[in-house]
Amino acid sequence: MLELEEALARILATVPAPVSETVLLNAAHKRIATGRVTSPIDLPIFDNSAMDGYAIRAAEVASAKADAPVRLRLGGRVAAGESFAGEMAAAACIRVFTGSPLPRGADAVVMQEDTRVEPGTPQDILILEPTKPWENVRLRGEDIKQGTVLANEGDLLTAGRISLLAASGIAQIKAGRQPVIGLLATGSELREPGQTLGAGNIYESNRIGLSALIRQAGAIPIIFSIVPDTAQDVRGALELAFNQCDAVVTSGGVSVGEMDFVKGAFEAVGGELQFWRVAVKPGRPFVFGRHGEKFLFGLPGNPVSALVTFLLLVRPALLRWQGAADVSLPAYSGVLAEPLANPGPRRHFIRVKVDSDGKIFSAGAQASHVLSSLADANGLVDVPPGTTMMAETAVQVLRWGD
Ligand code: AMP
Ligand code: MG
Repeated sequence: MLELEEALARILATVPAPVSETVLLNAAHKRIATGRVTSPIDLPIFDNSAMDGYAIRAAEVASAKADAPVRLRLGGRVAAGESFAGEMAAAACIRVFTGSPLPRGADAVVMQEDTRVEPGTPQDILILEPTKPWENVRLRGEDIKQGTVLANEGDLLTAGRISLLAASGIAQIKAGRQPVIGLLATGSELREPGQTLGAGNIYESNRIGLSALIRQAGAIPIIFSIVPDTAQDVRGALELAFNQCDAVVTSGGVSVGEMDFVKGAFEAVGGELQFWRVAVKPGRPFVFGRHGEKFLFGLPGNPVSALVTFLLLVRPALLRWQGAADVSLPAYSGVLAEPLANPGPRRHFIRVKVDSDGKIFSAGAQASHVLSSLADANGLVDVPPGTTMMAETAVQVLRWGD
């Protein structure tokens, strides 16, 4: 039985390098950059006003006070999107708005609230407060200098990063191709939600949760029909899925019972098992196999085991396949509000609920068929074998659950 880290290292070592493709920026959210992108421009691209107000020369308003205002002559107006031709005259000011290019000659902006205009003299602007040089001015290049790295190879393209790329004029970007992942649920007892259940039947629930997690990991799920527990059905389903997909994720049928057909069927269709069984709870009977350049991730059927092993072992593979540098679940520090006990011989990834203060509670019963605690959980805490972590212990929580 492999340790989790060993299993993950073997999977990541087997996953191929990303295939780059060019994507439009408006389709790039949550994709992974496969090359470094630098800015072709300075940001801001010109000195501009941070306020609605008047562009001035700071030296000319140094003595300004509410009861002894400095009087400047209004020399023009520049709206955002316009530009001021020529240079601002001495003892003059220019009406500007947030985003207006700073007129040549000006070195600061006094905000509108610190000025007054008297009835009858609309061309005289009374400045009521001194303004320091470059106050209320957003300087060219203060955010990004031309040539600055906007995205590195392996970066996740978050909403913030694609906004920065757009602001720098980037319209398309190279990103890792999204692998297509086939999802098979094996089990003669399984029925589609919405169908009528016969004796001994249950509703199939792994494909919907796993397809959500596949999409969250940036890959593309394809859901196949439920597969009955016969060697022939499992073989046929694997063949079909491997024809259409880059990798196949199965659930169920990977244990030691005589109704567990996945491993045998996979070998029968030309697959090569890499390893089976990982020393974690929930989820020990996890299978990883190669099928040419494609992969099998065989997850246990118990719903909690399927989702947790996906998060620990499949999600990192899908992200690395797209070129991601960081493939681990986001880890946050928190403090246990109650003890978490693992009397068993394997590491237990216990479903927890983290509140907004970072206090960590058990999400409920921890057996691997219990879905209510899965639904209530937003994290996992890795509790070592034979260990009880006491209340108040500071721990790392692996976050997931949206
Ligand atoms: P297995 O790994 O096939 O032995 O399944 C273990 C347990 O999980 C059994 O109780 C199955 O009925 C249940 N199970 C397997 N696959 C699913 C599924 N796709 N949806 C819901 N429960 C399942
Ligand atoms: Mg089964």
